[in-house]
Amino acid sequence: MDRVASRAARKHHPLNAHFDLTYRCNERCVHCYLDHEDHGELTTAEILRVLEELAAAGILTLTFSGGEIFLRPDFFEILAAARRLHFDISLKTNALLISAEHAARLRESGVRSIQISVYSDEPAVHDAITKIPGSHERTLAAVPLLVAQGLKVKLACPLMPQNLLAYRGVMALAEKLGASYSFDPTITPMMDGSGGPLIHRVSTAALLPVLQDPVLSACYPRPAAQTDAAMPSGKPVPSLTSAVSSGFEFAAYEDIPCSAGHNSVYISPYGDVLPCVQLPVPAGNLRRQRFRDIWYHAESLEQLRAVRDSQLPVCGSCEIRSYCERCPGLALMEGGDVLGAYERACELAEQKARLAGVAHPLSALHAPGATARQAVGPCKTNFLVTTDNSFYRKGHDA
Ligand code: SF4
Ligand code: SF4
Repeated sequence: MDRVASRAARKHHPLNAHFDLTYRCNERCVHCYLDHEDHGELTTAEILRVLEELAAAGILTLTFSGGEIFLRPDFFEILAAARRLHFDISLKTNALLISAEHAARLRESGVRSIQISVYSDEPAVHDAITKIPGSHERTLAAVPLLVAQGLKVKLACPLMPQNLLAYRGVMALAEKLGASYSFDPTITPMMDGSGGPLIHRVSTAALLPVLQDPVLSACYPRPAAQTDAAMPSGKPVPSLTSAVSSGFEFAAYEDIPCSAGHNSVYISPYGDVLPCVQLPVPAGNLRRQRFRDIWYHAESLEQLRAVRDSQLPVCGSCEIRSYCERCPGLALMEGGDVLGAYERACELAEQKARLAGVAHPLSALHAPGATARQAVGPCKTNFLVTTDNSFYRKGHDA
């Protein structure tokens, strides 16, 4: 798969699709970035047509997500179509609606893995985040049903101030239930660009004990081309994803920011095509265009594919790039420039470099003269997604 992903990224073949079937949800998580109103979701027939187009274009792995996917009454019909088209299928769900019968049908439908949001091993903490009393009990009741069917289950736990130290409990819970786990301190702005959910973001200082936990540290493989003198060889690089990451991303996506638009694509419940759910740069809409035409001809995707990490106006000269998990989507939403640096990534990278033994790590954004380079970046792209099935361009282009 590493070789397939790498080759697809190099040749810009679409390989992975993340398809949100609905933004409606039966939870109201405090940090959620979605508008849960239905603004005109794709119909069953439209979704089945889109799946055929994705298969014909070569998409191999398909993740159905939401909102809550089980709120779509046609969910199993969609799944059956995906099965007929031989996708490798994964799901993201809060599992509130999963019964024993559902678990068996998921197995029969060829689903390979299921990611379930769990915020704590303590019911009160979890329910306070989802705002649904009893949700912890219902979500966890589904896990053994799925595991018993031989499905791979992962407990996904976003870290916020209210559940920061729950991760050890979630690890123990996952082990007891026969599931894997992942933790992520990334909290994103709303899809319309407003920053409400960001009040639930853990500060870099507060993350320190988590980053220092040896269970979550690992030595990542480094790209052969990277010659970062600041990286002390053999030192572990603290990363919250290390417990679940194979690290193959580094090899597959050398000198490009990430897979978005290179071999991965996101589709919204309204048929909008974006490089990634976290990168709100519109490429087209599947109600009006065929997937293949969007993927191979959208100007925004062409622009994205031309970006090289080493040529980024600020980050291209950053001495601690090896420690940074810069996301171009967050660079756009938080810093206003898809090519730019942004404060959160720099703070985390400096913190990780310090923990790995680098003396006085300084991101390129914090180095003298960086502000000027950031301000004159070559092409500011300031598209944001609206939730009324259309896009608008924010009026502050460079
Ligand atoms: S780095 Fe950001 S834009 Fe790229 S795939 Fe990850 S979330 Fe999406
Ligand atoms: S630490 Fe900051 S300046 Fe350095 S690569 Fe990351 S985002 Fe860019």
